[in-house]
Amino acid sequence: MSQLKYCQGPKCHTHDTKDRKRGPKDNKRNETRRRSSFSYLNGNACSMQCQGDWFDVYGSRALQHFGYITQPKVLTADNAWRNRRDWTEGNDTFYAYNYLTEERRPITEQQYNDDTNLDNQGRFIS
Ligand SMILES: [Zn+2]
Repeated sequence: MSQLKYCQGPKCHTHDTKDRKRGPKDNKRNETRRRSSFSYLNGNACSMQCQGDWFDVYGSRALQHFGYITQPKVLTADNAWRNRRDWTEGNDTFYAYNYLTEERRPITEQQYNDDTNLDNQGRFIS
């Protein structure tokens, strides 16, 4: 059984829905949603609304923490890699594709799924 966690939306409890009501009949109160998994904010928010609420409160602080882009990033052949999969009857092939040079490099299905062959700038690393 997986661990329950709370939605990280700072206003989750203020969105008035039946499933957020907790407590005895005469003293119902809204509480933050708690689930084993969520679909928003990388699995940390219960809804798009709560994801947006989180971003409104913490988004600019996250930028300050991780650093703003202060110069344009430039697309070059070095950072133009994306992982792709070709669906062929009963025989899928996985490869990194450079969409500037059109070069293909074979990768494993695992790499396709976890992107460990690419860095977060789109460079091929292994
Ligand atoms: Zn929520």
